[in-house]
Amino acid sequence: MTQDPQARPSTGDALISIRDVTKFYGDFQALKDIDLDIHRGEVVALIGASGSGKSTLCRCINRLETITSGTITIDGKPLPEEGKELAKLRSEVGMVFQSFNLFGHMRAIDNVTLGPIKVKGVAKAEAEKQAMDLLARVGLTGKEHNLPSALSGGQQQRVAIARALAMQPKALLFDEPTSALDPEVIKEVLDVMTELAEAGMTMLVVTHEMGFARHVCDRVVFMDSGEIVEQGEPEAFFAAPSSDRARAFLSKILAH
Ligand code: ADP
Ligand code: MG
Repeated sequence: MTQDPQARPSTGDALISIRDVTKFYGDFQALKDIDLDIHRGEVVALIGASGSGKSTLCRCINRLETITSGTITIDGKPLPEEGKELAKLRSEVGMVFQSFNLFGHMRAIDNVTLGPIKVKGVAKAEAEKQAMDLLARVGLTGKEHNLPSALSGGQQQRVAIARALAMQPKALLFDEPTSALDPEVIKEVLDVMTELAEAGMTMLVVTHEMGFARHVCDRVVFMDSGEIVEQGEPEAFFAAPSSDRARAFLSKILAH
């Protein structure tokens, strides 16, 4: 095959590249030699028992935590330490938390416009127009002027997703986005996430929703005790996990 200089490198098109990353909290090692690439448009489920280091990994990618050693690059650029570059990175990699983290005193629309106006300098009218479109996209037309306290948990989480999208991120990290929700509203949040995945958004999703991991994600990454123990295509992973630790984990969560 002839070489096309315009072709993407054969090493793959990693948007998020994590190499030899370790993280200590004091003496405690929360991440051990993590190597992980997330490619453009890829949707990766990050699963594992409580305390295995999933949130820590997400927080390190978004630089909410510092890493002890190793490198993380986003779109080829290393994570900035602080200042303007860090704010830019945070806008490029959105994060959605279990606890929504909306500003309680601000209406849905103001939660969505805050970042674009404050961080990106978007004009208020333009930011509001965009926020109306995003809130419509997550199924919240008519709720734009509600305070978070006047929204259900599922609606609040969808505002949080619209807020993340408003920054036009290159990738989205979700840390157990449905774990704090009542069962009947979990689906409305997963549906929005499924639409984002189908639209080509690059996503890393910490989740206990094995149906979502299996049917929506391109790859499952299983962590235990701060390590990536195994990873693979969802069908193969769920049908026949190769490690004892993954088998033990799956038998616990799928037992009931
Ligand atoms: P998970 O999200 O998989 O439940 P975490 O990343 O939250 O796991 O935690 C991984 C480990 O690191 C746990 O043992 C937890 O107690 C520890 N840990 C997390 N955050 C801190 C912190 N700020 N200080 C000390 N230890 C922490
Ligand atoms: Mg966690």
